[in-house]
Amino acid sequence: MTAPNAGETHEFRTEIRKLLDIITHSIYTNHEIFLRELVSNASDALDKLRFETSRGTEMIEPETPLEIRISTDESGKRLAIVDTGCGMTRDEMVEDLGTIAKSGTEDFMRSVTENTDADAASNLIGRFGVGFYSVFMVAEKVIVTSRSYKPGVAAARWISDGSGSFTVEEIPDAAPRGTTIEILLREDGKDFAKPEKVKAVLTKHSNFISFPILVNGQKVNTMPALWRESKFSIKPEQYKEFYQFLTFDPEEPLLTIHVNVDAPVQFTALLFIPKRGMGPMTYRENLHHGLDLYVRRVLISKDVKDVIPEYLGFVRGVVDTEDLPLNISRETLQENVILRKIQSVLTKQVLDKLKALAKEDPAKYNEFLSSMARP
Ligand code: ADP
Repeated sequence: MTAPNAGETHEFRTEIRKLLDIITHSIYTNHEIFLRELVSNASDALDKLRFETSRGTEMIEPETPLEIRISTDESGKRLAIVDTGCGMTRDEMVEDLGTIAKSGTEDFMRSVTENTDADAASNLIGRFGVGFYSVFMVAEKVIVTSRSYKPGVAAARWISDGSGSFTVEEIPDAAPRGTTIEILLREDGKDFAKPEKVKAVLTKHSNFISFPILVNGQKVNTMPALWRESKFSIKPEQYKEFYQFLTFDPEEPLLTIHVNVDAPVQFTALLFIPKRGMGPMTYRENLHHGLDLYVRRVLISKDVKDVIPEYLGFVRGVVDTEDLPLNISRETLQENVILRKIQSVLTKQVLDKLKALAKEDPAKYNEFLSSMARP
């Protein structure tokens, strides 16, 4: 930890203070999910950089490999997570690390407001995923140092102890592109400075991340993106693992649909129907999740709603197509004719699978249907 606690001080907004208060005082014991959240942010930042590279955007250090490096310091009770992704400018840090960006976090906050029982609130943390802030379940202090991929922008540093405020400042040193998150662990979080512990958590939650993750220089994630594998070589356990990685649902999916289509559009999709379609716990106005869209293995956009109709909004999964240009912008995805064709194939696949289930196992199907009722 190099930084003095200098820089401009900002107060967190009220909703974040409330979230931080719940997180730091929660009885929720599954602290390890903070690592999943930080690695997932690092992976998103790398996805964004890969996307900008594919569109030919000018950037600093274009040759730097895309990876996530984690280092542990057991005696110092410290952990650092480094990514070589898109990074953040000072202003982006104030904005992005000062708002509730995750829709899961919004859902979480809504549930907390609806339900004032603190224990119940704690138990919802794992279910919704509270993003970056979950680091304060284990951290005494967090230092985020970041340098944006955009040329000519200074690096910046953000520091907070997770109470009411954070400081932020531009820094003169030529920090490398990407983001470093240094965590000074609380006494009760010091296990996360042990490399074996970190590796075990990563294997459990972050195995399918598509960039190398290195712990003290050693690569830990080995799983390929499952939808690209032949379905005959995939074991049910692997599908279940991928589903849980994607949704954080502790249960196994009701149905798994893995399709490889050549006409009228070429695409591969790996879809899941959760056991509880719309049960009391999961019913939300914005239940229409959408699917993650890849073009030739590059993530173009998460939660794309145009590939699955709203009434099948509970379906989760990924779609990968060769038929869209890599440099398609997220904005032009709407009303796209290829996505409409993908949607009509997927709709038929999902309805056929549900019909087959209704015939083969009416009890299971009815249980699913009853979970669809509004609370
Ligand atoms: P979410 O990841 O769902 O957007 P988070 O609270 O976890 O929500 O993160 C908030 C925002 O902070 C992200 O949307 C992103 O803009 C920014 N951010 C977090 N971590 C990183 C990172 N490692 N690199 C670049 N930006 C990041």
